[in-house]
Amino acid sequence: MTSTWAELLDRHRRRHRTVPEDAPGTVPAHRPRAAVLGCSDARVAPTPLFDAGPGELFTIRLAGHVATTEVLASLDFAVGVLGVDTVIVLGHTHCGAVTAALDDDADPALASLLSPIRHGLGPGITDVDTAVRRHVANTVRAIARHAGTAGRAVREERAELVGAVHDLATGGLEPLSEPLAF
Ligand SMILES: [Zn+2]
Repeated sequence: MTSTWAELLDRHRRRHRTVPEDAPGTVPAHRPRAAVLGCSDARVAPTPLFDAGPGELFTIRLAGHVATTEVLASLDFAVGVLGVDTVIVLGHTHCGAVTAALDDDADPALASLLSPIRHGLGPGITDVDTAVRRHVANTVRAIARHAGTAGRAVREERAELVGAVHDLATGGLEPLSEPLAF
């Protein structure tokens, strides 16, 4: 039986040509147009979703797109060093992380991811897709209030910050329209 890794490596080698080590090619400049903070869900891939090419999107993904310290630092790097002027928080319907956050019996080992989601949702929300919209809005708000470079750029309107929900059933993208309150 072929392992998944062996198959992926084989696919890579068939698709991508490499140049000899003694004749290296040029390294493209790192000038992404936008930063995307999205969920790790395998069905939500930002680059094809935005019809973008390699190098266009600075992408940060973790289950439930939580604005952790490391995520915010990565956004500071994208805005402050790479010059990104657009930050997109990308949630999606049927999100497993948000579903787990609504489940009181979820694995305690997931607490570091689920607690910030739960804290922002508060009590009374049981519908996953409603919770996803709320969590995307909460993540947008956390970035907008962040004291670092990315948050300042948003507050000073040097960078645009948006939230959107990708609908897995329709393939559509719903931008969130809640106004930002700093
Ligand atoms: Zn998800």
